[in-house]
Amino acid sequence: MRRLGLETDTDLALHLPLRYEDETRITPIGQAGPCDVVQVEATVRDVRTEQRTRPQLVVRVSDGSADLVLRFLHVHPSHRKTFTPGNRVRLRGELRGGFFGLEMVHPAYRVVRGDEPLPTTLTPVYPASAQLPQAYLRRAITSALQRVRLDEVLPAHLVPAGLPSLREALLRLHQPPREAQAPLLADAADPAWQRLKFEELLAQQLAQRLARDERSRLRAPVLVAGDAAGTGAANLRQRLIGALGFELTAAQHRVVREIEADLAAPRPMHRLLQGDVGCGKTVVAALAAATTIAAGWQCVLMAPTEILAEQHLRKLVQWLQPLGVQVAWLSGSRRGKLRERERERVQSGEAQLVVGTQAVIEDDVRFARLGLAVVDEQHRFGVAQRLALRRKLAQAPGPHGSHGGGEPLEPHLLTMSATPIPRTLAMSYFADLDVSTIDELPPGRAPVQTRVFSLARRNDVIARLRHEMALGRQAYWVCPLIEEGDDAAAPADARPNALTLRAAADAHRDLAQALGSDAVGLVHGRLKAKDKAAVMAAFTAGTVAVLVATTVIEVGVDVPNASLMVIEQAERFGLAQLHQLRGRIGRGTTGGVCVLLYGTPLGAAARARLKAMTQTHDGFEIARLDLQIRGPGEFIGTRQSGDMLLRFADLQDDSLLLQQARDTATVLLAQHRDAALAQVRRWLRGRIDFTKA
Ligand code: ADP
Ligand code: MG
Repeated sequence: MRRLGLETDTDLALHLPLRYEDETRITPIGQAGPCDVVQVEATVRDVRTEQRTRPQLVVRVSDGSADLVLRFLHVHPSHRKTFTPGNRVRLRGELRGGFFGLEMVHPAYRVVRGDEPLPTTLTPVYPASAQLPQAYLRRAITSALQRVRLDEVLPAHLVPAGLPSLREALLRLHQPPREAQAPLLADAADPAWQRLKFEELLAQQLAQRLARDERSRLRAPVLVAGDAAGTGAANLRQRLIGALGFELTAAQHRVVREIEADLAAPRPMHRLLQGDVGCGKTVVAALAAATTIAAGWQCVLMAPTEILAEQHLRKLVQWLQPLGVQVAWLSGSRRGKLRERERERVQSGEAQLVVGTQAVIEDDVRFARLGLAVVDEQHRFGVAQRLALRRKLAQAPGPHGSHGGGEPLEPHLLTMSATPIPRTLAMSYFADLDVSTIDELPPGRAPVQTRVFSLARRNDVIARLRHEMALGRQAYWVCPLIEEGDDAAAPADARPNALTLRAAADAHRDLAQALGSDAVGLVHGRLKAKDKAAVMAAFTAGTVAVLVATTVIEVGVDVPNASLMVIEQAERFGLAQLHQLRGRIGRGTTGGVCVLLYGTPLGAAARARLKAMTQTHDGFEIARLDLQIRGPGEFIGTRQSGDMLLRFADLQDDSLLLQQARDTATVLLAQHRDAALAQVRRWLRGRIDFTKA
């Protein structure tokens, strides 16, 4: 229960059902037909084992109106005890038409003794885990509901009209009367759900407003590009722009202005820079770094994976080192003396720009004068890392802060993300975050064409690869992470399991056979950092033409010469993820082709999803589609467990409630501050810190 965050009665009361089962009525078998989901009560007639590819347990039961056959494909010892002829059992499941009449495969079952009454309320089915049985959780929640105090925190006139009290809402959702329609309850439009969503959104808005107030009292260094770093020229930032070799887009100019205005203010910046893959966020970060360094402060850039961090390092070194900037590199794989030396350069202030993975926020890393922290693909970091970063920011720049004597200064924070959130939504939701959006791609990009093929055409695709190679182009071949017993795609940095590795190794072997082993490289999350770096370097240099990879390349890799991407079992990925992957190609001017290979057979919905990828290249549109199909979990980058900011509300569907919550938060903070604090405590206990991360 603790692992699910269920520690207090309130936690249990707020742990709401995923769906309901109707066990309030018994259906006579004779009145039911195939595809009905029903509960029946019947007597066991006979039990036998049928030998198929595996032994199956086949039980015949009867309730007087008709017979029913139960099939168990996995036989468990307890089955024998339950299904003893003469026992009366309650069964729930979906009926199907079998060869000998109606059947149920793996029904839920229970022996009934004597005169056991039927429940009078619908049975809730809670989010649980394998180690936590539903029955146990149900009992715990039922007794918690009896104990818990659910007094209204909000003054009555601030609850939106038509919504029930919190207590009524929770009781209705946990123990719906049998007249309630299960499908209606599951519908988020039910007033009880509306009340909960409102509560949650309100707590979220309050927490963020409080965090914003707290932040506004902090002081930050004023960063205006000067020449404090003694780089020999009046303006590092100007010289960087001159050295780029391309013109910034209008959108890049705009966001640079927004960021620089923040940096020049004596309050810590808290800004999200979002923009579609390939729109050029890195150079914006580099310019912010240049401004920071020119003002005499340090900048740190943190990326979620070693590969991505290294890409940044290479780009930033290429841009900034010729201008005299000192760069340090910290990563998980660099240990011992080398790390110690880099750490000292950071601590002494010699290093002006520090690039790395989360190794940059390890406890013993101290910054001399940290002015700006940039976090790339920040939604990929877990809660713990985000909190560690916050602590690091709070302790830097420490006693060395040069402005205002001993007064502590907090660095500015810029986060970057390619998982776009519609701007208006982001602005109204993130009360404690300013948002800059790059909404155009650099000119001259030939668009990526996306094609969908069955895996049966794999060989044709390999032939096409050979053709591309002959033209001197490069390709990615992406294998999905396969989770055992689950086909949901895992976070990009999850360590691949044996199945995943085998799929990647198979692809590597096939391609090496077809195209020559020197031309094909393999990279995945279990490789040693050194080997990973070697493969990536060979691919960047062009000596390896085809890179077979698990999703480690998902974020940020930038090899302009790569023009073809093949994604195996594309149906396993989310649309936003596919879009991210696809963003790795077509970075040069030759255009690109992305081939989505699906394993057959593919359902109509899955086919429609993949087809959508061929029709739009707009990351915002794709985020919207993905949201519709997969729900909001991914949306704010809350994929990691425990990371859920919003459990019930959905920013898109509930924008009206969000507006009401915002307005209510304003009134509460101004007139009922105690109620505001109580609301935040009730909903975010233990997660308050996270709302600031
Ligand atoms: P992302 O926003 O996905 O992180 P990157 O910062 O990696 O994108 O940029 C993608 C590529 O576009 C890089 O090779 C970068 O140097 C290049 N680039 C960025 N801005 C421009 C521009 N204004 N004109 C031309 N190329 C650009
Ligand atoms: Mg990037």
